[in-house]
Amino acid sequence: MTNLEKPNITGHMFDVVVIGGGISGLAAAKLLSEHKINVLVLEARDRVGGRTHTVRNEHVSWVDVGGAYVGPTQNRILRLSKELGIETYKVNVNERLVQYVKGKTYPFRGAFPPVWNPLAYLDYNNLWRTMDEMGKEIPFDAPWQAPHAEEWDRMTMKDLFDKICWTKTAREFATLFVNINVTSEPHEVSALWFLWYVKQCGGTTRIFSVTNGGQERKFVGGAGQVSEQMMKILGEKVKLSSPVTYIDQTDDNIIVETLNHEHYECKYVISAIPPILTAKIHFKPELPPERNQLIQRLPMGAVIKCMVYYKEAFWKKKDYCGCMIIEDEEAPISITLDDTKPDGSLPAIMGFILARKADRLAKLHKEIRKRKICELYAKVLGSEEALYPVHYEEKNWCEEQYSGGCYTAYFPPGIMTQYGRHRVHGPWLSLKRYYIGELYPRLTGCLKIVIITFSDE
Ligand SMILES: Cc1cc2nc3c(=O)[nH]c(=O)nc-3n(C[C@H](O)[C@H](O)[C@H](O)COP(=O)(O)OP(=O)(O)OC[C@H]3O[C@@H](n4cnc5c(N)ncnc54)[C@H](O)[C@@H]3O)c2cc1C
Repeated sequence: MTNLEKPNITGHMFDVVVIGGGISGLAAAKLLSEHKINVLVLEARDRVGGRTHTVRNEHVSWVDVGGAYVGPTQNRILRLSKELGIETYKVNVNERLVQYVKGKTYPFRGAFPPVWNPLAYLDYNNLWRTMDEMGKEIPFDAPWQAPHAEEWDRMTMKDLFDKICWTKTAREFATLFVNINVTSEPHEVSALWFLWYVKQCGGTTRIFSVTNGGQERKFVGGAGQVSEQMMKILGEKVKLSSPVTYIDQTDDNIIVETLNHEHYECKYVISAIPPILTAKIHFKPELPPERNQLIQRLPMGAVIKCMVYYKEAFWKKKDYCGCMIIEDEEAPISITLDDTKPDGSLPAIMGFILARKADRLAKLHKEIRKRKICELYAKVLGSEEALYPVHYEEKNWCEEQYSGGCYTAYFPPGIMTQYGRHRVHGPWLSLKRYYIGELYPRLTGCLKIVIITFSDE
C-alpha cells in the first residue's frame, strides 16, 4: 500500500514522469528528451512495448504476438519507425483471398468478398455507404459534438444494423466487421464511438483492407523493435518492473510511487496507459468525478492472436494468399493473414480469435485450440496439409493485467456523450498538472500527447 507520509526522494527529481513504456509513453519521453527536458518512464512490465510484443525463438525467428499491422493514415508510427531505421514490408495478398460462409469456400480478390444475390448486394452497399456517411458527420476531435451524437450514442451497433440491414447475410457480415475491427460485439459498443473509430481509420474500406488499408504492412523484425529502439535511445530514463500505484500532487511538485515503494518527484505526469488501468492508481487529491467515472466505463476488447507454422506455404499451390474471412459460429478464428516472413521463409498463418469466441476458446487447453484451428484451416483451404503444423504460437491478451485486454478500449453506449470530453480536457483543466492521455486507437497517435501537454502549458 501507499506511503501517505512524504517520503525522502533525494536524487529522484524530474521535469516529467511518464507512466507506461508502450509506444505512446516512450515516444512522448523521446520527444521531451530531445527538447532537453529531464524525463523518466516508469514501466510496469519487465519489457517495453505494452500491447506490441515481438517474441523471438528458434522456431519463428521473430513473431508479433500483439499489434503488428500498419497502413496509410498511420503517419506518426510510420514516421517514427522510419526515423528509427525499422523497415516495413507488404503483407502478402498476391494470390486470392477466401471467404468461408455457410460451409463453403469462395475465392475472391479485393477488400470485401463479392455478393451475387442482388438484394444482398444492395444491402451491403447501403450498409457501407450509410456507415461512412454517418462517420462524416462526426468531428475527429469532438465526437460528442456530432449533430446526432446523443441519438447515435444511445444506440449500439447491433441496433444500427437491425435498423439499416434488410438481409441476414449483411447483418452477419456486419457483426464480423465489428468483431474484427474492435474485438468486441455489436451489442456492446456505442454506434457513435464505432463510427468515429472507423472514420479515424479512413472509413469502412480502408480499415478492412490489406492493399491501401490498415493491414497493408508489417515491420521487418517485428513491431516490438519500435519500443526497444526508443528504450535504447532513452537509456537510464526508462525503468522497467515499476508499476505506478500512487500519485500525490498536494505540494508544488508531484510525487509518484511505484509498487516496490520507490518514489520520484516531478513537475508533470503523463499517463500513457489504457484508461481503465488508471483505476489501479491512487490519486491525491482524488481525480475529478467525471474522470473517475469515465475510467470505470471503458472496457478493453478481447482477442487471442494465433500463429500456425508450416513446412511450406501449401495455400499458394491453390492460388490462395492465406487471407481467410470466416463466417461460422463454430469456427474459432474469424480472420487470417499470411504471416510468412518477407523473404519467404517460415511459412505461417496468423489468425484472430475474437470477442465472444476469445472468452469461449480461452477455456480450452492450448493443444486443443491449436488442433481446432488447424482443422478449420484444412476445411476452409481444402488442404490436409493444414493438419500438420510444425510450430504454434499464441497470445491471449485478456490475461494481461497491464493491458486488460486488446486491441483497444471501447465505448459502450452512452459514455461518449456523457463523459467523452473528459478524456483529454477534464483532468487537464481541473488539476492543471496531469495530462492523463489515452491516445488514439491503433498505433496512430503516439506523439500527440506531448504536443498538447506542452503547448497548453
Ligand atoms: C493482438 C493485438 C493486435 C493488434 N493489432 C493492431 C494492428 O494491427 N494495428 C494497430 O495499429 N494496432 C493494433 N493493436 C493495438 C496496438 O497494439 C495498441 O493500440 C498500441 O500498442 C497501444 O500503445 P500504447 O503505448 O498507447 O499503450 P500500451 O501498449 O498499452 O502501453 C501502456 C504501457 O503501460 C504499462 N502500464 C500499465 N499500467 C501501468 C502502471 N500502473 N505503471 C506503469 N506502467 C503501466 C503497460 O505495461 C504498457 O507497457 C493490436 C493490439 C493487440 C494486442
